[in-house]
Amino acid sequence: MNYQVDQNGFYGNYGGAFIPEALSPIITKLQNEYVQIIQEPSFQKEMEELLKDYVGRPTPLYFAKGLSKKYNTKVYLKREDLCHTGAHKINNTIGQILLAKKLGKNKIVAETGAGQHGVATATVCALMGMECIVYMGALDIARQAPNVARMKMLGAEVRAAESGAKTLKEAVDEALMYWVENPDDTFYLIGSAVGPHPYPDMVSRFQSVISKEIRKQLLEKEGKEEPDYIIACVGGGSNAVGAFYHFLEDNNVKLIVAEGGGEGADTDKTAATSYVGKPGVLHGSKTLFMQDEQGEPLEAYSVSAGLDYPGFGPLYAHMKEQNRAEFYAIKDDEAMQAGLNLCKDEGIIPAIESSHALAVLEQRKFKEDDIVVINLSGRGDKDLDNYRSYFNF
Ligand SMILES: *Cc1c(COP(=O)(O)O)cnc(C)c1O
Repeated sequence: MNYQVDQNGFYGNYGGAFIPEALSPIITKLQNEYVQIIQEPSFQKEMEELLKDYVGRPTPLYFAKGLSKKYNTKVYLKREDLCHTGAHKINNTIGQILLAKKLGKNKIVAETGAGQHGVATATVCALMGMECIVYMGALDIARQAPNVARMKMLGAEVRAAESGAKTLKEAVDEALMYWVENPDDTFYLIGSAVGPHPYPDMVSRFQSVISKEIRKQLLEKEGKEEPDYIIACVGGGSNAVGAFYHFLEDNNVKLIVAEGGGEGADTDKTAATSYVGKPGVLHGSKTLFMQDEQGEPLEAYSVSAGLDYPGFGPLYAHMKEQNRAEFYAIKDDEAMQAGLNLCKDEGIIPAIESSHALAVLEQRKFKEDDIVVINLSGRGDKDLDNYRSYFNF
């Protein structure tokens, strides 16, 4: 089975580019040029240098003694939490801003929900001296004050999306509208493996450095490049595809997806797309997402702001159809507890998103000699208030 996009940007039945007519010329140009630009030696060299000296790569592959003993299997943590800005998102924003530069753009527009992608985007815009406009729902601006302050401190202009529910969907609409009106000097920087082709594949390629490093590091530590399992959380799917990418065609490596189960996949407070999603077009690509009878996206819910998204990227819809991964809907309580356990067992405070991946250890048995790699997508500093009110610290 093939897990790369075809000529038209499809993974099997999912993907493609469903976009307004006005965007067609810019998207077509991007589709035609992105692979060639990314593969140029000068691009690769600049990207590698920034990933090394600015982001802090390679991130360690850490053998987690405490977890391994507790679950009687071999657990490794891929430490994306140690990246500059505290999560994997920067791998992608570095790649896309270099691409924007090659395309001759001097302005970046992005949308953000909880603000993490906005911060990663504002960071690389400061680094490259580019103008940065971030659309954010007015409600999210009120809820996520620290990230708004970070973006402003980094020099970004944060614009409030005031229509509809005033959250991520409206921010996406307004960012796209800005791009339609300013196609010549502006690049639209998407934060996950979602959106019209070529974004899901482009983001996957930029995040694939994670699995490239895992192969090399496992060879050094275990004498073989392939683990038995890789576990990652999925909001849109960027950290997970990064961890899976170089193993996708290798069926001996079993892939496990942890989604935001919220209060349960059988309740209406959930973000478990693989359980309740239906096919349709969301954010410019055909995928599975939670929708009402009219096909309008439903509001997703998860304790974790990064997993609180009504769909996932088209690759996951394809993987689900092909049975390439196991999907777990991790409930809020299970994730919060797994996060606290990691603090006690390993002395690492994980992002609540990453805690969903860790929670799989409680739900599924692994053999004693299995090698289980968990992608620790981010650190928990941003979530301290959330952990504190949950556990009453
Ligand atoms: C944004 C975020 C996620 C979810 O996004 P993906 O694109 O699915 O990776 C997961 N973990 C952390 C720490 C994040 O910041």
